[in-house]
Amino acid sequence: MSIKNNLLQIKSTLPEQVTLVAVSKTKPISDLMEAYEAGQRIFGENKIQEMSEKWEQMPKDIQWHMIGHVQTNKVKFMAQFVSLIHGVDSLKLLQEINKQALKHNRIIDCLLQMHIAEEETKFGLDEQELASLLSSNEFQEMKNIRIVGLMGMATFTDNKDQIKKEFSHLKSIFDQLTIHNSQFTILSMGMSGDYQLAIECGSTMVRIGSSIFGGR
Ligand SMILES: *Cc1c(COP(=O)(O)O)cnc(C)c1O
Repeated sequence: MSIKNNLLQIKSTLPEQVTLVAVSKTKPISDLMEAYEAGQRIFGENKIQEMSEKWEQMPKDIQWHMIGHVQTNKVKFMAQFVSLIHGVDSLKLLQEINKQALKHNRIIDCLLQMHIAEEETKFGLDEQELASLLSSNEFQEMKNIRIVGLMGMATFTDNKDQIKKEFSHLKSIFDQLTIHNSQFTILSMGMSGDYQLAIECGSTMVRIGSSIFGGR
């Protein structure tokens, strides 16, 4: 199967309200262009340097999503062009994004990353941390960022019940927030191995790499 066929096949199975982020990390520009020519305009990368190089060389109507962990000192390299940052999990990082966005006179859309998996990882907020971030004065004062939703990754397992449980948990946190906040519209969950489950559980944005571009 070609990249184009993979892409069109996946797109044909996605419900209308679900946005596809084509995860192109480690792939050459020629692969991305194949997806672009098949109509894809949203690409996800997990390294800021690689994303910047691709942004420089590729058509300017592409929306670049940063899906990886972001180091504070690298925000400045993407502030000019990034369209959505998925992995925000601290006030400190948000403050830096806000500062760099201001320099470019932009408002940068962000998702807060929630820790929903059983696995130990450094990344992602728990519910307590989410609540205190959203209610902090520092957060209220930031004018150049906009939190538009949540992102999460399920445990890497074959156990579908567990994955479902984790995605459903994230969806319930999301639903709580949308009651008070109409800016919350994006729930980013689901990758090649689990995006169908994620959609069943209410995902509005899937991040798919290897099923489009092949293994890495
Ligand atoms: C790499 C990556 C993906 C895509 O993974 P695939 O299994 O190749 O679809 C999605 N989300 C994040 C955060 C990633 O780092």
